[in-house]
Amino acid sequence: MSERGSPLRHQRRRFAVALIALFLLAVSFLVIYAAAFSTFKSSELERAQGRAEFYRTTLESALDRLEHLPFILGQDPAVVRGLQDPESRFALNRRLADFAARANAEALYVMDLDGLTIAASNYSEPVNFLGENYSFRPYFQTAKNGQRGKFFAIGATTKRPGFFVAEPVRDSTDNIIGVIALKIELDELVAAWRASGEKILITNLDTIVVLASQPDWQYRTLAPPSEERLLQIRQMRQFGQEPLAPLDWERLENDEVALAGERHIRVRVPVTSQPWQLHFIVSTAGLQERALFVVFLAAISVALLAIMFIFWRSERLRRALDASHQDRKRLLREIEDRKATEKALAKTQNELEKSSRMAALGQLAASVTHELGQPLSAMRNYIAIEEMNAAQKPESLATRLSGLVRRMENITRDLRFFAQPKQHQKTPFDVAKAIENAVGLTRHDLQARQIEMALNLPTPAPQILGDGARFEQVLVNLLRNAMSAVDDVSAPKIEIGWAPAGDNIAIYVADNGHGLKGQQIEELQEPFRTDKPSGEGMGLGLAISASIVKEHAGELFAVDNEQGGATFTILLPPISKDKGQSGQ
Ligand code: ADP
Repeated sequence: MSERGSPLRHQRRRFAVALIALFLLAVSFLVIYAAAFSTFKSSELERAQGRAEFYRTTLESALDRLEHLPFILGQDPAVVRGLQDPESRFALNRRLADFAARANAEALYVMDLDGLTIAASNYSEPVNFLGENYSFRPYFQTAKNGQRGKFFAIGATTKRPGFFVAEPVRDSTDNIIGVIALKIELDELVAAWRASGEKILITNLDTIVVLASQPDWQYRTLAPPSEERLLQIRQMRQFGQEPLAPLDWERLENDEVALAGERHIRVRVPVTSQPWQLHFIVSTAGLQERALFVVFLAAISVALLAIMFIFWRSERLRRALDASHQDRKRLLREIEDRKATEKALAKTQNELEKSSRMAALGQLAASVTHELGQPLSAMRNYIAIEEMNAAQKPESLATRLSGLVRRMENITRDLRFFAQPKQHQKTPFDVAKAIENAVGLTRHDLQARQIEMALNLPTPAPQILGDGARFEQVLVNLLRNAMSAVDDVSAPKIEIGWAPAGDNIAIYVADNGHGLKGQQIEELQEPFRTDKPSGEGMGLGLAISASIVKEHAGELFAVDNEQGGATFTILLPPISKDKGQSGQ
């Protein structure tokens, strides 16, 4: 697989997966549609069955309601007499009209054996049956043969459809002398069907629609009868001049028919009193709509699910991103911490090295000062004796030696100051006292050099926990440095004092000397860093001072003054008044 081909193939695969998913979705929707449609259809079928039964009952009761009336009237002596005696026919007409009106029948009429109507309930209407011959009607034939004849037909005289029931009329010797017939109209029934909005049609054995809820279906055929049969029907004049055209009707599978191209569910029930079939039909359009609605709901559910899934995935992605963000942040923080720790470690190591170097130097200094101390004081004594002897001689050897000894003493003083301290007991000492002592120790030199000295000691002075004597050494060293710095100044001035600085106190030594010349305190306190000529200083003073200040939990700073000169400041915690110990 080439490098360039890989994403293309990936894309193709994704496209194929999407296509398959789409196909499966379409198939699922089809299945859902089919299932919903068949469910709706079976419930609709059940309903249709019920409706069909109902309509059949109403039809049968309409047909059967007056079925026995011709039989009963056939026994009526007035009817028999009417057939035998033409004189009594007028009275019979009225009698039939009365019965028809009471029974709500369209017509009641009596025919002789030739089929000629001799009396009719509608005798007084302009279109009546009197004098008409109905021998061609099957019901007449049946009744003449001694049975009940039933027939549906379009009236030959009135041109109105109706249901005919006929019975034979017998004389006293039980001979058939005529036929009495009843015509029932079914208009009201059909009107009720139409009003219901439902679709009903009744077919006879020839599949001719005899009754229908839709007027244009009536007298149409579902399956056209043969030519021969059509001829017979015409002879019976059952449907008058109706052309008996076929209805646009096609039987489909699964209880369905197509009527004028529209699919319908069809329920068919037989009518008991007649060789008829009742067809109840319902369009499937509603069912299709309902099934489509179910598919629509399913599609919406799928879409909702998809949206939820996408939302859930993006939420998960966002959370994962968040988590990785947090991890990155934590990692960065850890790196920072580590860097800081490494830095602190390096600093500590540095300080450790420094302090061990200082410790070694201290030991060395201690032994040198100890060894030199005695010979030096012996030399000073000898020189003092010499000087007394040669008092009057200026620039004597003794005087020069004395200068050399002083210089050597300066050196040892520095060294002593630097010597490793013994284990000091920490005790509280007064800041003002320490400052005054340091000034006292240097007063001689200050006066000799005519340096103006200012003391700033506000009361009450705080106390510090530590070694007072060593702390005084620091102050003495700072004062001596200041004295050196103001050496070449016309009006030399030094100020020493203390001031509160937040929770700490600041002890400062300020001068108007040559200043720090751009050097930082870190550089100045490097051991052996000095601008003094050999024998004047070893460059150890500030290094030692800084370490002593540190022993007292303090820190040493140095800055140039704006008006010239420098200020050295020791910042350190006083003993807190309530606890009686170091505030730190
Ligand atoms: P030393 O006094 O032996 O030179 P220090 O460590 O005490 O050693 O001082 C180091 C250097 O710091 C001095 O040589 C000097 O250059 C500088 N210094 C110290 N105090 C002052 C000050 N008050 N004004 C200017 N420079 C100073």
